[in-house]
Amino acid sequence: MSEPDQQKTISEPGQEKTLAEQAPSSYECRACGYVYDPAKGDNQNKIESGTLFTDLPDSWRCPVCGVPPSQFIDIGAQGAPSGFAENLNYGLGVNTLTPNQKNLLIFGGLGLAFLFFLSLYGLH
Ligand SMILES: [Zn+2]
Repeated sequence: MSEPDQQKTISEPGQEKTLAEQAPSSYECRACGYVYDPAKGDNQNKIESGTLFTDLPDSWRCPVCGVPPSQFIDIGAQGAPSGFAENLNYGLGVNTLTPNQKNLLIFGGLGLAFLFFLSLYGLH
């Protein structure tokens, strides 16, 4: 297999970007507040997910209010990537707990739930 090099994607040391910086920007409609999220695309206008706002056809219009793309402002990458990183850290954190710590979490949670139940019961 010898495909032509269409894109050189060699990442040089020190040039790596954070997840948030890698994520494409979302754009918000100044007229109605609709947010175009490139990760979702735009079903109504048959824009595939993964399409950057800057790659939308000139004929594209806000699916909510119909204004042209020039009425949109760049609001930066939204939630998902950094949230994913946080979840990843959270998952790792739990996974590094010892079994005893996990039991403490579980029974501590049960105890709290029981107390909460009791307090509800006490109201009646
Ligand atoms: Zn709009």
